[in-house]
Amino acid sequence: MELTQSLQCLQPSYIREILAVAGDPNTISLAGGLPAEQSFPMPIFQSIMSQLANDSSLFQYGPTQGYAPLLDYCDQHFSLSPTDQSLVTTGSQQGLDLIARAYLNPSDGIVMEAPSYLGAVQVFELAQARIIQVDQTSDGPDLTQLEQCFAQHSPKLFYAVPDFHNPTGVCWSLAVRKQVAQLCRRYDVVLIEDAPYRELRFAGEMLPMVSELCPEQAIVLRSFSKYASPGIRLGVITGESHYIHPLITLKQASDLHSSLPMQALLLGLLTHDHFPQHLQAIRALYESRYKILASAIAEYLPDSCSAWPIEGGMFLWLILPTCDVNTLAKTLLKNGVAVVPSSVFYPAHMEGSYSALRLNFTNAEPEALVKAVSRMASALAGEV
Ligand code: PMP
Repeated sequence: MELTQSLQCLQPSYIREILAVAGDPNTISLAGGLPAEQSFPMPIFQSIMSQLANDSSLFQYGPTQGYAPLLDYCDQHFSLSPTDQSLVTTGSQQGLDLIARAYLNPSDGIVMEAPSYLGAVQVFELAQARIIQVDQTSDGPDLTQLEQCFAQHSPKLFYAVPDFHNPTGVCWSLAVRKQVAQLCRRYDVVLIEDAPYRELRFAGEMLPMVSELCPEQAIVLRSFSKYASPGIRLGVITGESHYIHPLITLKQASDLHSSLPMQALLLGLLTHDHFPQHLQAIRALYESRYKILASAIAEYLPDSCSAWPIEGGMFLWLILPTCDVNTLAKTLLKNGVAVVPSSVFYPAHMEGSYSALRLNFTNAEPEALVKAVSRMASALAGEV
């Protein structure tokens, strides 16, 4: 049977190809965006799960918008205004899909940072949207380009990851946040603020979300994958109710609702006495792994390779002298290290301006991180 045109255009995911090979026990993988399994709050989950098993109502069909006590928690915790609404989603990936299906007709303009999160690129490509790219600098999107894009292309949406961007790890400064909020207002562009890494800050100061600076002009995607666990598949979309309400109707047609037992489990974690310590432990673990990776890079790799410093998140962006990053990633794989080349994080047929590699530092043990960099150094010696 013939596939739809939008699906025919979709490229197979290079990350999935790499991840398939990265499972080889002799390969050290810095490729996936996986949290550390040892960070999952298993003792807390165990104690909550045994209680949940006594409540049969949680195993019945439930409301599409979400488990009411979890929605109440989101209202309070995310300081929502009375005109805001939340919708619990099956991971923030579903949130992206719902937004694209609700708001993007083929050829509608959406601006994205370049490079950008591959899962978002795929969703917007499937929607056959007109993707317009703005270069990502070490302090967020190039603002001159962003204003030109808004003025010339009149996009409907601007999709951005201001806190610890995937893949570059960049966190926008306050000045950039303020200017982007102003531009969204001036040009009437709705900001889609994707914030799955926001809670993973291990250095520097917490900054306001961009959406807090232009609340009437923004939809926020939050994910519980990075500090609860990805397997529970839960996220939440918030924004003014006129943005969220159509998404609830769409979700109903899509999967009726996200798993109620998992929502109750998540709420149990978020309200648990030990939750603050749990968050602190993840941040400390990731900070130590980041420092180990950054110092191994400084020690083993040539000066022509530079890593953008980060204050949180799960990724480090290693910029290389201009080279064919796909070939390089394959060479590294043959040398026992899986990484993701920068070329993957752009829409099909669009050129990236970086020769870079995305390195995940959260899922490998310290010794493996150092070994990976020393293997990279040997492979790079002949390549760059
Ligand atoms: N947005 C970004 C920027 C991501 O990096 C990811 C996952 N890697 C997601 C969304 C999807 O997360 P979830 O597990 O909540 O679907």
